[in-house]
Amino acid sequence: MTVKQKDLLYAGKAKSVYRTDAKGKLVVEFRDDITAFDGGKKDVLAKKGSYNAEVSRFIFEYLEEHGVKTHFLSMIDDRRMVVRELAMIPLEVIVRNVAAGSIVRNYPFKEGAPLNPPVIVIDYKDDSRHDPMLNDDLIIALGLTTAQELAKIKTIAFAINRLLSELLSTQGITLVDFKMEFGRQGRTIYLGDEISMDSMRLWDKKTGASLDKDVYRFNKGDVMATYNSVAGRITGAKTPAQKAPKKPAKKPVKNSTKKPVKTSARKKR
Ligand code: C5P
Repeated sequence: MTVKQKDLLYAGKAKSVYRTDAKGKLVVEFRDDITAFDGGKKDVLAKKGSYNAEVSRFIFEYLEEHGVKTHFLSMIDDRRMVVRELAMIPLEVIVRNVAAGSIVRNYPFKEGAPLNPPVIVIDYKDDSRHDPMLNDDLIIALGLTTAQELAKIKTIAFAINRLLSELLSTQGITLVDFKMEFGRQGRTIYLGDEISMDSMRLWDKKTGASLDKDVYRFNKGDVMATYNSVAGRITGAKTPAQKAPKKPAKKPVKNSTKKPVKTSARKKR
């Protein structure tokens, strides 16, 4: 059933959200605006919205296939997607696999140092306060989530990190860090917002080159050429499951004297 876009509900720095004629569904439009440093640097780059929409769609579908609940429902065109309407939780949930960006500025980490196990950082989504970092007690004291919901969000965030790191690795890309936003529909927590070159920090495994919004933030090169090429790499990525199709494990024959055949089938996660 096609959904009709209605009036504007909310316009953020790079996306606009519209009401629709369908209950519980919204339309998210990925615009060509790009901003950095709390909106201190702004530009409009033709096609940027469609690259981010395509990568977000691909990642949402990949995560859904692996059991992660996301707000994504369908695409309308190359930059507009129909999503579940969520009550958004004002948290920026960041998982970091390698030290870079704000944690290198704020703490004595060396840029490029691996973080193993990965580190989760949760910021309060509030531009007027410059998204200050929270801790579990503050999140609960502010009534943003219950302790159970927070534990669930962290578990989902780490699971997404494993899935995405694995996927990007097949394309020679290191997932340095990325930001997620979650929301509720009833009691269910869904991944919302976007996962794109604007919200991930990606490094080429071979060259170490930035393949994300850092190219824009720090004038590292041609932003749109980078977004175009990385979108192609990500959406053309064979998922690890596609690359090494799981062979059904051969069951040992009952009462047989033959030893069970060893298979290379990977364990189901
Ligand atoms: O700036 P910082 O190093 O804390 O960013 C960590 C990750 O979260 C980066 O991938 C960045 O693109 C993303 N992020 C975001 N939106 C923000 C802040 C950070 O997508 N408001």
